[in-house]
Amino acid sequence: MIIKPKVRGFICTNAHPKGCAAHVNQQIEYMKVQGPIDGAAKKVLVIGCSTGYGLASRIAATFGSGADTLGVCFEKPPTERKTASAGYYNTAAFHQAAKDAGVYCETINGDAFSNECKTQTIDMIKADLGKVDLVVYSLASPRRTDPTTGVTHNSTLKPVGQSYTAKNLNTDTLKISDITLEPANEEEIANTVKVMGGEDWELWMQALADADVLADGAKTVAYTYLGEKLTWPIYGHATIGKAKEDLDRAASAIIEQHNGLSVQANVAVLKAVVTQASSAIPIMPLYISLMAKVMKEEGSHEDCIEQAYRLFTECLYNESPRLDDGNRFRVDDKELRPETQAKIEALWPQVTEENLFELTDFKGYNENFLRLFGFGLDGVDYEEDVSPLVDVELK
Ligand code: NAD
Repeated sequence: MIIKPKVRGFICTNAHPKGCAAHVNQQIEYMKVQGPIDGAAKKVLVIGCSTGYGLASRIAATFGSGADTLGVCFEKPPTERKTASAGYYNTAAFHQAAKDAGVYCETINGDAFSNECKTQTIDMIKADLGKVDLVVYSLASPRRTDPTTGVTHNSTLKPVGQSYTAKNLNTDTLKISDITLEPANEEEIANTVKVMGGEDWELWMQALADADVLADGAKTVAYTYLGEKLTWPIYGHATIGKAKEDLDRAASAIIEQHNGLSVQANVAVLKAVVTQASSAIPIMPLYISLMAKVMKEEGSHEDCIEQAYRLFTECLYNESPRLDDGNRFRVDDKELRPETQAKIEALWPQVTEENLFELTDFKGYNENFLRLFGFGLDGVDYEEDVSPLVDVELK
């Protein structure tokens, strides 16, 4: 079939197998150019390994330090008539590249929140890796079924305390208008914490420790975004921010619970980037478009792979990691430079539908968004008749 993007609102419902492979290979090439990362993990579990920050972390581990990786993701396989989800094609491409490099990789395609998935992962670690020395927790999900109660919790993206009105860009129609988001109630906040907070990270670490598959001194990291004034009302101080605060609690709990193994647990604060998860958050597309404009002009623009590389070299495997007073790794340092934020804040009120393409990097945002699904990659013939089926065995 000839595969062209089918964008509906803030999602693209199909993906291009060759384009996704090209996108993965670009990130692998970036890592190869950087050269080896000293002292990094050799056996890595990546939970949420198929897109965005998790995929970039997996690439950094394998192509930065030759690490064997076991990944967990939740992706849709292809059929004869329908393409797979992008993460499925990304994983197929990663498997091919790791195999070509002679490095172990396996991926479990299942619900990371379930007990079954944890058991299957542990069985595979025992059989293939022995123990893991790094666990990356990079899930972004709108819902979670609690494995104990069987109740499914849905997260919400709402302000906390009071309603919030702000400028919002509809990325489909390119219309800019004010949206008002009503504040979340207590139940919505609690549900969001249940989905995106630290409970499942703790359950993973407990299960891995109980099964004796965590190496002595193993590290674990979970990802968060803090942002600044412009995004606080919808992120940092909103339902998702409350969930992310719970990661800080979980990091301390993990250190305490597994101090016999000297486990090092940190939350890593990463910059805003275009991913499937962030494009669903109101206000973020406009903020990211403005931020990219400013950071590209400053020469400090970064995407997932550059962030993953700096997380490994400047924080995870660095003798003096950049930590804040909450024991969090800070890789959002360039985005949050006061000069950078001041420029974004000055531009924010000036943006209109008419000057969107001059004042912001919306063109780059849109290209970046399409690349997530394998569209717009150099060297890919999008007129070619390609099969949606790819050759990869996910567990
Ligand atoms: P993403 O949507 O690109 O990736 C999500 C990953 O989670 C995918 O691999 C997906 O398959 C997996 N997943 C989702 N539900 C699952 C389930 N039930 N079982 C197994 N796997 C499942 O998202 P992302 O933007 O890379 O986000 C990853 C983390 O990084 C999140 O914690 C997010 O809050 C954080 N973060 C994102 C940004 C940003 O701007 N995108 C910034 C800072 C931190």
